[in-house]
Amino acid sequence: MQVIEHTAKSILSAQSSGFLVQGPYPFTHTLSPYTGCQFGGTTCGLYCYAQLLPNWRYRPEGLKPTRWGEGIAVKVNAAELLSDYLAGCTAAQRRQLRIFMSTTTDPYMPLEKQRGLTRRLVEVFARYDDLDLLVIQTRSPLVARDFDVLKHIPYAWLSFTIESDDEAQQLRGGPAYTTRFKTVAAAVHAGVRTQVAISPCLPHSPRFADKLVETGAQRFVIDTFTAGDGGGGSRTAQLPYSRLVPAWDEDGPAQLLAQRLAEAGVDVGWSADGFGGIPYRTEDARKGHPDRAHAQGDDMQLRMFTPDPPPEGAMVLTLGQEGAPRRPLPGFPYFWLKYVSGFDARFHCAQCLVGPFHKGIWSTVRVPSAHVLTQAQGWRFAYLCGVAETQWADNLHVPVAHALGQEVEVFTYNGIRVHITNARRVEIPWIDDGWQGFPRSYTTCRNFQFGVHHFGYDGATRPSQPEFTNPKNGRSLDTLQRRQRRRKNQ
Ligand code: SF4
Repeated sequence: MQVIEHTAKSILSAQSSGFLVQGPYPFTHTLSPYTGCQFGGTTCGLYCYAQLLPNWRYRPEGLKPTRWGEGIAVKVNAAELLSDYLAGCTAAQRRQLRIFMSTTTDPYMPLEKQRGLTRRLVEVFARYDDLDLLVIQTRSPLVARDFDVLKHIPYAWLSFTIESDDEAQQLRGGPAYTTRFKTVAAAVHAGVRTQVAISPCLPHSPRFADKLVETGAQRFVIDTFTAGDGGGGSRTAQLPYSRLVPAWDEDGPAQLLAQRLAEAGVDVGWSADGFGGIPYRTEDARKGHPDRAHAQGDDMQLRMFTPDPPPEGAMVLTLGQEGAPRRPLPGFPYFWLKYVSGFDARFHCAQCLVGPFHKGIWSTVRVPSAHVLTQAQGWRFAYLCGVAETQWADNLHVPVAHALGQEVEVFTYNGIRVHITNARRVEIPWIDDGWQGFPRSYTTCRNFQFGVHHFGYDGATRPSQPEFTNPKNGRSLDTLQRRQRRRKNQ
C-alpha cells in the first residue's frame, strides 16, 4: 500500500448535481478525508465506481502509478480546513449545511486507526450543534471508536453498509457481515442515529430483512447497481464484478427486500431518494431548498410542480380507502407515476414514456394517501404503473388525461382502490402480434402499447428491433428468460 501525505486546498465539495441532490432532501456538500480507499482491494473494490470518478483520475502525482485500492493520499490538513470553513460561516449558513462523508473513500478504512484524521474531523463537527446534517458513510467496524463523539452531535447520522448476510458474497474479503450487524446494533445501543445502507444489495438469505430489522437501525436505504451507479448500470458494467457475477444487474431481489422491510414497518428508502431522504432539521435548510420542500413530512400529500394549495381543477389521485388505517402498499415492489410528454421507442416499459417521475410514489408508498397532480411542463397524460409481485397479468397500467369534472376509479389485482378526480381514462388498444420476434412481455406491456397508440409508433413506422432493444444487459432477452426460469423454479 502506497501512502502519501497531501495538503488539500479545500475539504468540502459543493454539490449542485448528481446522486446526492436527487432525493427529496438533498445534500449540499461532500467531504473526503482521504483520496483513494484501502477497501479497494476487498470485495467492494470489484464494483466501486469511485475508481472511475475524477477524484481518482486526477489523484495526486505520488499516487499516479498505483491502482485503485493500492494507494492512499492522506489530506493532512483536513481538520484545519474544516475548522476554518465552519468558523467562517454565519450560523444561518451552517444551518443549511448537509454533508455526506464520504462518496469516494471510506473514512474509517484501516489506515484511519493510525492516522486519526476522521476522528479529528468529527471532533471539529462536535464543536457545533447547528448544522443540518452530517452523514458518515462506512462499512468499517472501526467507526465504533468514535461513537462517544458521534452520539453528541445532534445532526450526525451513521450510514453503515451491509450488502448481504451471506459471507460467500465476499469474493475478495472485507469486514465480515456478522461483525457489521454487531456494529450497527452497538451504534444504536450507544445512541448514534443509524441507517443501514444495503448498497448495493447483493444475494442474501431469506432472513436478511429480519436480521436488518433486528439491528434496531432507524432507517434503511436499498440500492442496486442499475439504480445507483450514476449510469444506469453502465459504470458497473466496466468493472470486474460484472464479469464475475452474471446476474449483477437484476433488481428483483432488492425490490423484494424493500417490500419486506416496508411491510415490517421500518423506514426504508430506495437509491437516491433513500440516501437523500433524511428530512431537514432546521428551518434554514428547508428554506434553502424551496422547490423540494413539498416532500417535507410524509407522503400523505406529495405535490409535484404544484403550489400550495393546489390549483382548482388539479387531478387528485387517491390510493386506498380514505379513513382506513395507513399501511405500506402491499403487492407492488414497483409503483410509480409518470407525467408523460412523449414516447421513445428505444426503451421498454416506463422508460419509453418520456416525462418526469412523480417522486415518492414508490415501493414505500402508503395507503391511503393522496397525490396532487397539476398539468405543468407540457405533459399530456399521467401514467400510473404498478408492477405486481405475482404475475405479469396483475400489473397495473392506468393512463389518464386531464378532464375537468370527470373521475376514474380502478382497483388493483389485490383490491386497492385507485380514485382519480378531474381525469379521464385513456384506453390502450391491445397489441397481440408479437411482432419482430420480440418476447411477448414486451408487446403486451401496456406502457409500450400506450406509446404506440398515442404517440404515433404504429404499423410501418414502428422501429426495427435493433433500434428498439435497449443495449443494457438487464433488459436483454436472455436476462428476461433467465428471470422467468428462476421464477418458475421458485
Ligand atoms: S469502501 Fe466504498 S469507497 Fe472504498 S472501495 Fe469500497 S465502495 Fe469504494
